[in-house]
Amino acid sequence: MTERRPRTYSTKAIVIGQRDYVDSARIITILSPEFGKREIVARGLLKPKSRLAGHLEPGTYCQLEIAVGRNLDIIREAQTIEMFREARSDLQSLTIFLYALDLADKFSLEDTGGELFNPLLTVIQRIAGGYPHSVSIRSFEFELLDSSGFRPVLDQCIHCGSDVPAEDAVWSPTDGGVVLKQCLDNVQRVSSISSRALKVLRAYQEWDFDQLVTIAVDSSLELELSSVMHDLMKTVLERELKSANLVEEVRWWQVSNDHVTKPN
Ligand SMILES: [Zn+2]
Repeated sequence: MTERRPRTYSTKAIVIGQRDYVDSARIITILSPEFGKREIVARGLLKPKSRLAGHLEPGTYCQLEIAVGRNLDIIREAQTIEMFREARSDLQSLTIFLYALDLADKFSLEDTGGELFNPLLTVIQRIAGGYPHSVSIRSFEFELLDSSGFRPVLDQCIHCGSDVPAEDAVWSPTDGGVVLKQCLDNVQRVSSISSRALKVLRAYQEWDFDQLVTIAVDSSLELELSSVMHDLMKTVLERELKSANLVEEVRWWQVSNDHVTKPN
C-alpha cells in the first residue's frame, strides 16, 4: 500500500513575500523550518472581513494550518506568533528588515531553504531588538554566503593566494574576494575598498556577534560596507536586489539630511 500524503499540515513559518493572485486571493511565500520556501494561496485575503488578514504581512512569524491543493496548497488558518513591530517602526529598520526577507527568498529554491529559517528569525529579532543594523544584517549576509558555498576570500589574494595587507587590497565581487594590486589584470571586475572597510568585513566574517556589536561603525563606513556587500550579494545571485537599493537610498537620504540639519 502506498502511503497517502496527509491532506492538511501545520507549520511555523515566516512570511517572506506576497503577490496578487485571482480575485481577492493572494499568493504568500513562506519560509518554514520543515518545508523550506513554499508558495501558498491565501483565499479571500483582500476581503474586508478576512480572518487571515493581519497574520500574513511580510515579516510576520506565524503558525499556519495548510490544506494540500492540486497545484498550490491553501492556507486554512493563520495565527501571528510575532509581528516584529519595532522592526517596522522607522524607515531604516524597515528597509533592512525587507532586505533580509528578500535575501531569504532569493537564496532559497522552492521546497528548500529550511536551514535558513533560524538565521532569518535571528536577524529579524536583532533588527527589532535594537542591535546595530550593520552587524545584524552583515552577519546574516555572511551566513547566507557560507551556506551557499560563496564565502568571500578576504585575507588571501584570489589570484595568487598570497596574504593581502588591508592597505594593498582591491575588491572583486565577481571573483568573490580581495586581490593584490599587482594581480589586478587577472580578475574580471574590480572596485576599490578602503582598508578600514576590509578590516571590519574580516571581523564580521570571523568574530562572534557579541564581539561584533562592540565595533563602532560611522555612517560613511556603513555606506561603504553596505555598498560592497550589496554588490557581492547581487553578483552571487546574478540578479538585481531592489530591496538593497532601497536600503542605500534611505541611508544616503539620512546622511545628507544630517548634514543639512546639523549646524556647523
Ligand atoms: Zn595575487
